[in-house]
Amino acid sequence: MLKLFNSFSLKKEDFEPFDKPDVKIFICGPTLYDYTHLGHARIFLTYDLLCRYLQARGFKTDVLVNMTDINQSVFNKAIAQSADYRSLTRFYSDQFVKDLKLLNIITITRLAHVSDYVENITKHISFFMKNKSAYSANGNIYFDTKTISDYGIISKQSRQQLNLHRMDIGPNKKNQEDILLWNCSEDFGFSWKGNFGDGVPWWHIQDTTVAFENFGTHYDIHGGAKELAYPHHEAHFAQYKALTGLENPVKLWMHVGLVLSNGEKMSKSLGNMVLSRELVEKYGQNLLRIYIFSTHYRDEINYNENDLCSKKPLLEKIYNTKNKTSDSTSQIISDLINEFFVSFEDDFDSSHALDIVDKICTLVLKDESITLQDFEKLTGVLGLSV
Ligand SMILES: [Zn+2]
Repeated sequence: MLKLFNSFSLKKEDFEPFDKPDVKIFICGPTLYDYTHLGHARIFLTYDLLCRYLQARGFKTDVLVNMTDINQSVFNKAIAQSADYRSLTRFYSDQFVKDLKLLNIITITRLAHVSDYVENITKHISFFMKNKSAYSANGNIYFDTKTISDYGIISKQSRQQLNLHRMDIGPNKKNQEDILLWNCSEDFGFSWKGNFGDGVPWWHIQDTTVAFENFGTHYDIHGGAKELAYPHHEAHFAQYKALTGLENPVKLWMHVGLVLSNGEKMSKSLGNMVLSRELVEKYGQNLLRIYIFSTHYRDEINYNENDLCSKKPLLEKIYNTKNKTSDSTSQIISDLINEFFVSFEDDFDSSHALDIVDKICTLVLKDESITLQDFEKLTGVLGLSV
């Protein structure tokens, strides 16, 4: 049975979807003002591996990715380039889709542009206003976190700790940690119509609405980078509970570790961004997958080109093994294939799974045998095009 670490309980838990065999997964997607870097690529590669594995185990996966096209960085870029806002965001969502294709990510079933959901967002905010879980202050609309008894549960913070964050600053907020839903007080050069005034739907409510409109009252896994746990996922979870009236509408929170570059988070301003398309062009997606999967998904990766290249011998072995496939699989290899699948069960230990692939290839290249069909069970899960 697959066990996954749940950032909500801080424990490894048996993974049982709400409506077996269907598994609904929401992944926090890109902000549409730049190309995909290696840190983003790692996130989508991880869930692609998870879905390929789940499918091989008989589950049906449905993956929703929301793409943030309402955001200050997007507005700034459009203004700086005197570009049409919609053309700019559609350009970067097309580039994102291209990057997914280059990475052989085939398991995303739904891609959502947040701007297509603004009417639903206003409907949800009106619902919160009506049942008093949201309020208006200085023209802005805030979600009242005091209406959620266990607010802070994902990021494991007490009320006092939460109160120390000066987030979504504005006059007349009831509580410091209350979440901005609709921003009417700042002028970004862009605004949307709402029945509480023209404004901008703020970040966290965007996920809540996109998830609810696609998946309804509950879904199985919410994924994204570890750094999104607070305030983003904390806020989204509180709002989702308020919207659905359920205590636990999301089964599991699965966070992926960061990819650092020169010891720091990748960012344009630091000039240490590594674009995934450049790596694919130079080394191919197979090597990139092996490199990413050789670290446990919750650990950080400090990107280094030499480390990436150090995976070449294993990839070579995999290619050579394909040339040695035959009409039977020996018992020792069958047992190892089984071990390959079992190794994922302990919190998705892809690094251990790759060690087993290495072992299988070494043995087949000596004198053991494997059929093409069995060989493709391994490469299929790993998403390698061999
Ligand atoms: Zn998100």
